[in-house]
This record gives sequence, structure tokens and C-alpha cells, in this order.
Amino acid sequence: MEKTISLGIESTAHTFGAGIAVMEKGKGSILSNQKRSYTTKKGGMIPALASEHHVKHAREVIEDALRKARMKPKDIDIISFSQSPGIGHTLRIGAMAARSLALRWDRPLVGINHCIAHLEIGRMLFQAKDPILMYASGANTQIIAYEGKRYRIFGETLDIGIGNFLDTFARELGLGFPGGPLVSALAEKGGRYIELPYVVKGMDVSFGGILTNLKQKISSGSYSKEDLCYSAQETVFAMLTEVTERAMAHCGKDELVIGGGVGCNKRLQEMARAMCADNGYSCFIPENQYLVDNAAMIAWQGLLEFSAGKRTKIEESMIEPYLRTDEIDVAWRD
Ligand code: AMP
Ligand code: MG
Repeated sequence: MEKTISLGIESTAHTFGAGIAVMEKGKGSILSNQKRSYTTKKGGMIPALASEHHVKHAREVIEDALRKARMKPKDIDIISFSQSPGIGHTLRIGAMAARSLALRWDRPLVGINHCIAHLEIGRMLFQAKDPILMYASGANTQIIAYEGKRYRIFGETLDIGIGNFLDTFARELGLGFPGGPLVSALAEKGGRYIELPYVVKGMDVSFGGILTNLKQKISSGSYSKEDLCYSAQETVFAMLTEVTERAMAHCGKDELVIGGGVGCNKRLQEMARAMCADNGYSCFIPENQYLVDNAAMIAWQGLLEFSAGKRTKIEESMIEPYLRTDEIDVAWRD
């Protein structure tokens, strides 16, 4: 096929997305990228409620994606969906929607790994050759690079994801969900650095102890919210940038792609750009719509894998909430 069109479905966590991507002679482009995200004013994300949110909005988001791309169902060649990893409750809704469309439209189904899609969308958008991915999202914090036919994890969080860290910290401060942007806004008003634990172990990072320390500082009442937000960001973003720099030197890669919702953070972007400039590396930061959980990258990843021969049978399309990045055979790269 000269030209293949993919409808992608994303539902690993708080976002239900539908997007359409095209592959023409190996080159990619995105035609639409629609989503609805579950948010709350108080408290964190409740998986059962997030999945209800997805059921409620699935149809509208999929129809929007088709309309925006000026496509009809008959124009779609394949259906791709996030099969791993993520929250079981929400993954199941997207998988169900994808199976239904595949059956109804009689099209092949391609189940894909969400983390790898974050890296591949960066490669496609910037024509990067062999980048390392700094993946900073709600549940995931990993440094991923391609080596020996696999996407391997060269550093990661030993406990919670950096976004969950920011969201929990925000909740302790009485802010809403998602907390990352709210912490970021307060941090810009702060400027006094309050000493916090800096937890880098080899190539890995850990946020649990910092969170406990921050909780104690919040309840002591001796610090302003602004300074706490500023200090939290400076600390955890420096940790992440440090392990990324080390992983790049270790792997001999000179291109960085950022992925994940926390990647929208201007301060983290600034640190990553400075680190790359110091080392003569290229720093590729997709626009926000491709940093956060999105279905365009799922659609594109589906095309990459489909063109390398992958098909996911309905009876093998069960979600895999805990599948790791390095368990995937990478058939679409040399
Ligand atoms: P994802 O799971 O990739 O969709 O990312 C969601 C996470 O990104 C949540 O934990 C948000 O709090 C976080 N996030 C979104 N925007 C920002 C921002 N500007 N700064 C820091 N974190 C953010
Ligand atoms: Mg993500």
C-alpha cells in the first residue's frame, strides 16, 4: 500500500483520545488529534470514575477525530490502540472501542505500547535518527533508548512517577488535579530554594522520600507554597536532567526527545535544553498536544508496526497494564 491511514485510540489513564495519522512512502503526518481528559477540583484520579468518563466521551472524541481529518470510516485502513502499559480500568475502555471499530469496519487491529509511541512520535515530528527519550508523565518516569532491537530503559523512578509526585504534592497543598501546571504556576512566583533531599541512585531516581519531606514542611507552616513549589521543581527536574545526561553519555546518543505531560513544564524544558547545549546534543521538544497522552502518537505507532507486519488478533488483544518497554520486539527499526 502506497498510503496507509490509521485511527489511533488512547486510554492509558486520565485521557481518552482519538487521532488519525497517515504514512505515505514511509513518511508520516498527523491529520487529527482529539481528546477529553478526566479532571477533578479536589483529590486525585479515581480509576473507576476515569473509565466512566471515557465511556461517556468515546464516541464524541472518535467522531471529532474523523471530522477534523475530513475522513469517513471507509477511509481508515487500520485501528491502533494503547494495549500497554496503564491503568486497567481505563485501558479496557479504549481496547473495547478499538475492537468494536475493527470488527464493525472490518479493519486490522494493532495493539501498541504507549511509552514507545512517545519516543516514535518525537522521531517522526523532528526526523530524529536515534534519540533517547526523557519520558516524564503521570505514572511513568523513564529514560529510554534503542539498543540491540529493543527499547531499553536506562534509568527510571524507583517508586512513583514524576507527575504523580507533582499531583500528590499539589493535593497536599490543597490544589486540584492535575497538579503539575498548578505547582508550576506557583513555582514561578517563588524563588527561595529550600533544601530538599536529592535522590539519584545510579541511573535511577526516587521521589517518595522527597514527597514525605515536603509533607512535613507543609504541615510545619514555616514555608510559603510558592517557595515549596519552586524548590520541589528545581530538585526533581535537576535529578531527571542529570540521569538523562548520564544515560546519553553512556549510550553515545546525541539527540534528546522529551515525552509525557510533565515535559510541558517550561522549567524542565529549560534545564533539558541547557544540558543539551552544554554537550552539543540536539534537543527535540514536541508541542504540548504531542507531549501529553495523545492518540496521534498511537495512530502513528500503529502505522510503523503495521508496515513491519504486525496484526493483533481480536482474541489476542487483551490489555497488558504492566508490560514493560523492553519486552517489546522492535520489528520496525534496523
Ligand atoms: P501524562 O500522563 O503524560 O498525560 O501526563 C500527565 C501529568 O503531567 C500529570 O501528572 C500532570 O500534573 C503533569 N503536567 C501537565 N502539565 C504540566 C506542567 N506544565 N508542569 C508539570 N507537570 C505537568
Ligand atoms: Mg504518557
